[in-house]
Amino acid sequence: MLTLLVKNIHTLVTMDETRREIRNAAMLIRDNVIEQVGATAELSQTADEVLDLSDRAVVLPGLVNTHHHFYQTLTRAVPAAQNCDLFKWLQTLYPIWAKLTPRAVYISAQMAAVELIRSGCTTASDHLYIYPNGSTLDDEIQGVQAVGLRFHASRGSMSVGESQGGLPPDSVVEKETDILKDSQRLIEQYHDNDRHAMLRITLAPCSPFSVTQDLMRESAAMARSYSGVRLHTHLAENNSDVEYSLATFGMTPGDYAASVGWIGSDVWHAHCVQLDDKAIQQFGKTGTGVAHCPCSNMRLASGLAPIRKMLHHNVPVGLGVDGSASNDTSNLLNEARTAFLMARVRELDAAAMTAREALELATLGGAKVLGRDDIGYLAPGMSADFIAINLDRPEFAGALHDPVAALIFCQVNTVDYSFINGRKIVDQGQITTIDLPTLIEEHNRLAHQLIYL
Ligand code: ZN
Repeated sequence: MLTLLVKNIHTLVTMDETRREIRNAAMLIRDNVIEQVGATAELSQTADEVLDLSDRAVVLPGLVNTHHHFYQTLTRAVPAAQNCDLFKWLQTLYPIWAKLTPRAVYISAQMAAVELIRSGCTTASDHLYIYPNGSTLDDEIQGVQAVGLRFHASRGSMSVGESQGGLPPDSVVEKETDILKDSQRLIEQYHDNDRHAMLRITLAPCSPFSVTQDLMRESAAMARSYSGVRLHTHLAENNSDVEYSLATFGMTPGDYAASVGWIGSDVWHAHCVQLDDKAIQQFGKTGTGVAHCPCSNMRLASGLAPIRKMLHHNVPVGLGVDGSASNDTSNLLNEARTAFLMARVRELDAAAMTAREALELATLGGAKVLGRDDIGYLAPGMSADFIAINLDRPEFAGALHDPVAALIFCQVNTVDYSFINGRKIVDQGQITTIDLPTLIEEHNRLAHQLIYL
């Protein structure tokens, strides 16, 4: 058993029930779990390791990312897809993604994990739905484990190609029997439902326009036959998505989700930009979650999601940077800031979202959406996932009267420390688990091969 004392924290943002913010605070960690939280003067001063933040850093719960496609870090800012809406963007990129290899999946997962962690993320869900050239979800899991991010790996899938009326080319879709068999294998091999688990599996048929209703129903039945296996997909992302649903299924996206059993506290849907009021109320009543991805939604001109209304109806909402080819970054602190700005523009109300509410979506909101009761706030018994951000940096200059709000108002992009499950993954701004220049070099080489070879 090893103990770590983090002391002289300028402000500790607990996100606990009363949203306590403790001045000159400390935290005692034992192995991977928080043991004590309080004022520095109140905590025992002895520990195996001490991190003295010298009254110059804020500490927060690690941020939670609820929607992403890690492999897309390889296809950021692709010229032909820079100015497309969702369907055109997908149709431009599918043939490039069809050239992915197991190594490309592994390296891109590391790149996305590093980028997320540097921007404050300590837990992420990822949605991998394309498996060309022998790629498997295992490649991604191994990449993420090498970096040290807490991970919810989603076994995505596509089974309806162009010839069957779907959007993706036939060459990148799988047989549904193969999808279900691999889903079961992954759950049994990797899914850990224990408290403080570092890896869980989610089942995630990609979208209404790329899988059958049968696959949605069967995936739901399989997930629900195991403890803690959740369901995730894309829903009501833009108007074309709604039109496809009406034309193909004769139903709105919300009714479609309900018709295949994809409503409930074990389900979360990405985007929901064009979700109607009836579905919002149903999501709220049933605890069906939403991954809000404001950068991607604006980048693809999908619209401004009605987040204020969702929160009013008690819909669990977390943040997602979405795939790196539609953002085109994996910066979660920036996503929280964008959510905060976007809510104000959508409602034409400067009080539509406060900075602290944006931080709450990024922490507590994400934890709820992923079904976790062991992350999202800092208190005894919780996982030791936290970040520290130094205040003596240019972004904070002139904002120290409220450094917590300044995290959102002033566009802070990187953390100085990140601990995940008690392990120091960022130390004085540097990733400790991986050689970053080597990773970037190989990542760029693989990206070049995808686009030009
Ligand atoms: Zn997505």
